[in-house]
Formats: sequence, structure tokens, C-alpha cells
Amino acid sequence: MTDPRGDLADLGFETLALHAGQEADASTGAVVPPIHQVSTYKQDGVGGLRGGYEYSRSANPTRTALEECLAALDGGAKAMAFASGLAAEDTLLRTVCVPGDHVVIPGDAYGGTYRLFSQVLARWGVEHTPAGDDIDSLAAAVQSGRTKVVWVETPTNPLLSIVDVAAAAQVAHDAGALLVVDSTFASPYLQQPIALGADVVVHSTTKYMGGHSDVVGGALVAATQELGERLQYHQNAMGAVAGPFDSWLVLRGLKTLALRMERHSDNAEKVVDLLVSHPAVDQVLYPGLPTHPRHDVAARQMRRFGGMVSFRVTGGAEQALRVCERARLFTLAESLGGVESLIEHPARMTHQSAAGSPLEVPDDLVRLSVGVETADDLLADLSRALS
Ligand SMILES: *Cc1c(COP(=O)(O)O)cnc(C)c1O
Repeated sequence: MTDPRGDLADLGFETLALHAGQEADASTGAVVPPIHQVSTYKQDGVGGLRGGYEYSRSANPTRTALEECLAALDGGAKAMAFASGLAAEDTLLRTVCVPGDHVVIPGDAYGGTYRLFSQVLARWGVEHTPAGDDIDSLAAAVQSGRTKVVWVETPTNPLLSIVDVAAAAQVAHDAGALLVVDSTFASPYLQQPIALGADVVVHSTTKYMGGHSDVVGGALVAATQELGERLQYHQNAMGAVAGPFDSWLVLRGLKTLALRMERHSDNAEKVVDLLVSHPAVDQVLYPGLPTHPRHDVAARQMRRFGGMVSFRVTGGAEQALRVCERARLFTLAESLGGVESLIEHPARMTHQSAAGSPLEVPDDLVRLSVGVETADDLLADLSRALS
């Protein structure tokens, strides 16, 4: 049967989010892919698979719908959906590395990513070197012939640093390594790392892609079919797959990703305006600010600057904790990327696992995930919490 929607490659982002991988159900006409809550599939004779499905660890139709949509949104050859972002990262690293290999990791990264490198993969024999977010520092950390992966996060969690993806791809490829980009903070709506040279894009779909704080999931998007097939083999062999209902929730979130990212960015810009002129705020970290050290790179490689804002308060850790606890509309909680605004203290919460390491974050830092509420209500809440 030919696809009546024609070539997906010609369609815009919002259209792909609604239609890639999501034809009306062939047996019922349901316009939304059903939740195929099933583990196994009847065979018409041994090996006679009706729809190509055999066992839901290997593949499940709801997950396939999500994976096709994920590949289309990031412009990759193949995508895989996992039970969490960290499950995706672990599967990726143990596909492309063997014990004895070396990886370059970000000097600022999601705390759980750093813990995976420092507490799990290090014991497995994969060595890591943290690098700064500038290209010279990345290049200096690469060991030619030994480095298998250059891993970057952009924007970073929680300091909102920006890495030049095209330049990082050059550094990685010159050394015979893969460039992996954790694009969780941007989502595929704001940034397209594969078009800039990345080999694999990592997402915690728990965040903006799910978008409603109701699901934990992860994704890998591979630039090439060959790498995608190796990753898919390991996805099945290691087994940390996304379940059907979780896949359905992420797919549902993707339909409004573009709309949400626009509103997250609008609201974040207003929050930043308030913070930069506030006497209780020492420094605002947001790639959309002209004073951000790599604002020009962000402006080049991102559509807008997203909903994550960090700031350092005057008055140290005590004051940062006080602001977190006084906010009301901004809910005190870990995680990010949902429709509701969240506030947190990275040093004591999301990044506690980096305490005492080269990735330790300042304790006067507050991180906001700016949601899609009425902007004036968010500004009033923050003003009160800072007063
Ligand atoms: C949350 C997060 C992860 C880990 O994803 P989980 O879904 O929590 O396992 C990885 N990278 C970044 C940037 C994150 O914010």
C-alpha cells in the first residue's frame, strides 16, 4: 500500500509530529495509534508473522509509531524508544564502546549522566575525561585513536552552557569518534543536531517531548541506518524498552511539542527580563541573553532559546533555598519540561550526585523550568519568592 501522505521528508515539523508513524489504524480506522498492550503475536505457521511483530521487547506497534515519529522529528535514519533517558544512554554507550575505550564528557551535565559515567561505566572499563564547553577544550580532551565518543549536552543542565555542535562534530570525526548530543533541553523543535553533524541524538523524553510530567522515557536517534541497526540490536539484546502505554503518552506529547516550546520560550523570555534587573539576582544564565558567552552560537543553531532558566542569587545557598521554598506556582520539584513551572536547587537536588566532583554546581544556583501558565502569574510568584 502506498502512503497517501506522500514523502514525509517534504513536510514541516508540526505536520510530522502529527502524522509521522501515525496512519489511521488499518483494522478500525482509529485516528490515534492504539495502545497495543500485548507481549506476543499469533503466528500463521512457524515464523509466519502477520504484521512483522513477534515479541514486544523486540518491537511493539505503539512503540514503532513513536519511533518513526522520533526519527522524522530529528531528521534521523532510525530512532529507538527506551524506558528512560538513562536506559537510552546506557544502551548507546555499551553498543559503541568496549572496556578500555575512552569518552569525552561534558564538564557540566545532567547529574545522572555523570553518575552513569563515573559509577557504572568506569567500573566496566570505559574511561572518561570532562571537557569545557568550548571547542579547544573539547579537542584537548580527545585522545586520538582511543576516544570513541565525544558526548556533549547543549544547552547544558543546569548551567545552560552552549556547545557549537557543528564544530564539535568536526573535532569528534577528526579523531575517528562519534559525536553524541544530549538535546533534551532543546527538543527537536528548537535544535536539529543531526543536520549539524551529530551521529546520535539522545533525549530524555520524560522532559519536553512527553511534556506533561506523567511519563519517564528516553530516545536515541541515529543519523545513519547502519548505526541505527546496531543500536536497535542492542535495544533488544539489553531490553530497556519503552512500554506501550509510555510510548503512547510520549507520542501524544509530541503532537503539541511545537506549540508548547513556543510558549515555554515566550514565558522564559519574560522571566529572564524580570530576573536580570532584580537586585536579589546576581547572574542569569540563559542562552537567549546577548551577554551569554555563546549567545551567537545558540542563535545560529537553535530556533529559540527554550524554557530553562538558571540564576544565581545574592546571599548564597541559604537564599537560594529560601527562594525555592517560597515559590508557590513554581512547584519545588526535580525534573523539567512539563507544562507546569518547576523550581529547584541543583546542588541539593538534581545534581547532588556531582557533589565533590569536577561537575559540582554552585550552591547559590536556582534552576527554573518555565511552564506555559499565564506569564504575569509566574512573574508575580517569582517576585514574591525573591522579595
Ligand atoms: C533527565 C535528563 C536525563 C535522564 O533522563 P531520565 O529520563 O531521567 O532517565 C538525561 N539528560 C538530561 C539533559 C536530562 O535532563
